[in-house]
Amino acid sequence: MRGSAPTNREGLSLAQCKRCAFDLPEGANYCPKCGEYAGKSIVEEFEVKSDELVKRIKDIIHEGNVTKIVVENERGETLLEMPATVGVVGALLAPWLAALGAIAAIATRCRIKVERRS
Ligand SMILES: [Zn+2]
Repeated sequence: MRGSAPTNREGLSLAQCKRCAFDLPEGANYCPKCGEYAGKSIVEEFEVKSDELVKRIKDIIHEGNVTKIVVENERGETLLEMPATVGVVGALLAPWLAALGAIAAIATRCRIKVERRS
């Protein structure tokens, strides 16, 4: 598997919110300012054929516990970044699935990076 998961340099860095850069209190799992998940997370990577992209993303969202989904092309360029909240509110999902469908139409293979709460 290529790529490396982000590592936490424990005790060294002052944790900041990934979304709003707010300085997080020690041990905080959520940003007190914007509510972004700030706990430890696991990143998984999958390679999928483009015609399986939409189905795979739906499955991943259905499994739950996801904080972020990133879709990259073969060159490692980010095509789409989906926030976790999309999976919670079904109505918000439709435009993302449409965007994924558009990506699937032009790409041959994609890499999905899934960030989950540990
Ligand atoms: Zn924040």
